[in-house]
Amino acid sequence: MDRVTKTYNRRGSALERVSLHVEPKEFVIIVGPSGAGKSTLFKLLTREEKPTSGKIIVGGIDYDKLKDKDVPLLRRKIGVVFQDFKLLLNKTVYENVAFALEIAGIPNREIKHTVPKVLDLVGLKGKERNYPLELSGGERQRVAIARAVVRQPKILIADEPTGNLDPKHAWDVIKVLEKINRYGTTVLLTTHNQDIVNSLKRRVVTIKDGQIAGDRAVGQYKGA
Ligand code: ADP
Repeated sequence: MDRVTKTYNRRGSALERVSLHVEPKEFVIIVGPSGAGKSTLFKLLTREEKPTSGKIIVGGIDYDKLKDKDVPLLRRKIGVVFQDFKLLLNKTVYENVAFALEIAGIPNREIKHTVPKVLDLVGLKGKERNYPLELSGGERQRVAIARAVVRQPKILIADEPTGNLDPKHAWDVIKVLEKINRYGTTVLLTTHNQDIVNSLKRRVVTIKDGQIAGDRAVGQYKGA
C-alpha cells in the first residue's frame, strides 16, 4: 500500500496516507485501538472498499487496473476469518468446508480429496460430522480457518480471530495460523491480546487514528 487514504464521510479519514509493504510469506500482527482503521485496511485489500487515494498492489495485481470481473479471482488469493466465525449452522464441519469448494465449481472428486486434508491440517480430524454448535469456540474458529484456506489463498487475513475465545482455545487457533504460515501463506493477524503479541515474536504494525504509529520487526512488543 502506497500512501493510501480512505475517507468514508466528512468526519475524517479512516486511513490517512498509509504505506505498508508486506513480503510474501510474512506473518504480520496488526494492533491498534478500536476504530483505528484495521478493518478498513482489510476491506481495502479484499476490495470490499476502494481507497479514496493511493495505490494498492497485492501479489502483483494493481488495484487501479483491476476490473470488477476480476475481483473474484483476487478474492481467491485472500482468505479471511473473523471474530464471529460466520459458519453455516445447518451444515456439518465437512459441509462447511466443502461448500467453499462447491460454490467455486470444484469437482466432487477433488472436494472429497481436499476437505479431509484441510481438516487434518487444522486439527479437526474426527469432527467431520459435527455441527458448529456441537463444537467449542476454538474448534469453530478452526473450521472457519479450514474454509478460508481450502482454496490455498496466498494471504490469510485473520481479523481478531481469538476475540471470542478463552486463552487455551485462542492458542490452538494461533498455532494453526503459524502452521499455515509455515506452509507458505502470508498471514495478517489483528489481536487485542497482549500475550499473543508478546509471545509470537513477529513483526508488529501499530495503527492509530488511521495512521501507522509503529512498525516493529521481530522482537518483544512493549506497547505503543
Ligand atoms: P478498527 O477495525 O481498527 O476498529 P475501522 O476500520 O472499523 O477500525 O474504523 C476506522 C474508522 O472508520 C472509524 O472511525 C469508523 O467509525 C469509520 N468507519 C468504518 N467503516 C465505516 C463505514 N462503512 N462508513 C463510515 N465510517 C466507517
